[in-house]
Amino acid sequence: MADEKQKINLNRVSMPKQEPGVRARNFNEVAQGYTMEMAMEEASRCIQCKKRNCVEGCPVNVQIPDFILALRDGQMWDAARILKGDNALPGICGRVCPQESQCEAVCTLAKKGAPIAIGRLERYVADWERAQNDKPKPEVAPPTGKKVAVVGSGPAGLTAAADLAKMGHQVTLFEALHVAGGVLMYGIPQFRLPKEIVQGEVEYVKSLGVELVLDSVIGKIETVDELLADYDAAFLALGAGAPMFLNLPGENLSGIYSANEFLTRTNLMKAYLFPEYDTPIKVGKKVAVIGAGNVAMDSARCALRQGAEEVYIVYRRSRAEMPARMEELENAEEEGVIFKLLTNPKQFFGDENGWVKSMECYEMELGEPDESGRRRPVKKEGSEFIMEVDTVVSALGTYPNPLVPSTTPDMEISKKGTIVADEENGKTSKPKVWAGGDIVTGAATVISAMGAGKRAAAAIDKYLKDT
Ligand code: FAD
Repeated sequence: MADEKQKINLNRVSMPKQEPGVRARNFNEVAQGYTMEMAMEEASRCIQCKKRNCVEGCPVNVQIPDFILALRDGQMWDAARILKGDNALPGICGRVCPQESQCEAVCTLAKKGAPIAIGRLERYVADWERAQNDKPKPEVAPPTGKKVAVVGSGPAGLTAAADLAKMGHQVTLFEALHVAGGVLMYGIPQFRLPKEIVQGEVEYVKSLGVELVLDSVIGKIETVDELLADYDAAFLALGAGAPMFLNLPGENLSGIYSANEFLTRTNLMKAYLFPEYDTPIKVGKKVAVIGAGNVAMDSARCALRQGAEEVYIVYRRSRAEMPARMEELENAEEEGVIFKLLTNPKQFFGDENGWVKSMECYEMELGEPDESGRRRPVKKEGSEFIMEVDTVVSALGTYPNPLVPSTTPDMEISKKGTIVADEENGKTSKPKVWAGGDIVTGAATVISAMGAGKRAAAAIDKYLKDT
């Protein structure tokens, strides 16, 4: 046993990446993925713990040691089946989940060295399966005769739709946009999450029998009450896609974007391929991105790739408080994004044509912790200075679009505009209606939205069986 222990490699197999200088100018995927040999070597580090902390650390409870064991032994179809048993979107999660604060954070190996690279292995298995031609038909329960409407096709809606379809219910998935995937399509850039991966997983959900209806804004074409006349239950997975603004003088100048607009134009409308795609975007030479979450990092890295010469992350706290995933922060830094910390904008100035040309900022310092537990940024009086910029992207956060809440009068809505739903099962105050994902929690993560979709699907299934 002692010998066995000594054999464990405490270092993970590293992931090949495009070189920073090269990748900062293209939209191809940054992380290139493991080869079969690398994946098997990494899988063989897993010590198959009896107490499966990693499974508990995963919000959708993927049977992680089991799929890793199958992968280690070269049983690839088994690995894919085990993974997909709990997670309909493994290619997506393997790329964008914050594993470092979930499954990998509680990996036993993390106590002594590097945890198993669970996300990278998940990605490897998902990509392997996607590349196979003769995929086995997914198992679906016999039809129950019950109909469920799922509104919103982001990770929460896709997960709930997949689980409900597997349970034998007839599922219609309504999506406002012309393409399914939510933030996975319009927000997260191609170089982190290629769109063919998202669409491959949407196709899998459709292969379970889910009917996808695009270009359908619920609340406009039909209200939730009108939907309920045709369906036995509804799951609302509308996300939190409305941008917050700075509310500062000069914010309406041309060249100042919300991150939502900037990223939607860039990613969904493929502005970076203009004129091949007919959505242009104007990215200047000096770009300031306000904020320091994943959305800010994505905006900064998109700006670089669209020709900006200097890109700044302007953040009012310090590096320790930056909410972005460490990996994305490091990627941005390697690519040349400059971090201007303890800095907050005061106002914007424009040129004679109404385009932003500079931004006045305050220097900040950290005071006592606020209600979020982070030290409160306090402005240093008299510290104002001017930054020359020709593009500004504000990535301050988002809130829910009020359309469905305002057209569904008897459903409880919080002061923040989120739908009030039971944390355990997603039940709202309105009969026959469940909700989950960012529309309930406010902006969060892909996997937490998926977990909410899973729990709501189980609750809807129980309700449909009991009625
Ligand atoms: P969404 O993904 O927002 O999907 C909601 C869907 O509902 C949308 O397609 C929308 O069009 C549709 N919809 C809305 N209203 C209606 C209506 N009335 N009728 C019909 N359809 C409607 N999380 C991570 O875990 N890792 C990351 O690296 C990460 N990076 C991010 C980067 C960016 C730029 C952004 C914006 C977010 C990022 N997140 C990340 C957060 C994550 O993407 C979200 O938490 C997650 O997508 C929420 O899922 P959802 O299903 O609740 O909503």
